[in-house]
Amino acid sequence: MAARKMATKVLNNKTCKQITDLVYAYLNDRLKPAVKRDFQQHLRICPDCVSFLNTYKKTVGMTRSLRAEDMPSKVRENILDFLRRRIRKTRASA
Ligand SMILES: [Zn+2]
Repeated sequence: MAARKMATKVLNNKTCKQITDLVYAYLNDRLKPAVKRDFQQHLRICPDCVSFLNTYKKTVGMTRSLRAEDMPSKVRENILDFLRRRIRKTRASA
C-alpha cells in the first residue's frame, strides 16, 4: 500500500532511487499502468536498474519459503539497502 502511494508521486522525475523503491510493487504487479510504463522505460535506458531488478528477483527467489509479499518490510528494506550499495559500488568501479 505504501508502494502504491509512492508510485503516484514518482511519475514526473524518476531517479534510480525511485526505481529501486518501485521494484517491489513492480514485481508484484501493483504499479498503475502509467507508472509501470515509466518504470519499464527507465529500465530501457538504465542498465544499473536492470541489474538491480534482476538481483532483487534472484534474492527474493532465494528465500523461497517466503513470498515477496509475506516478507517483513524490514527484511525487504535490508535487501534494498544491500542492492543499492551494490549499485553504487558497481558505478564507482566502472
Ligand atoms: Zn536507473
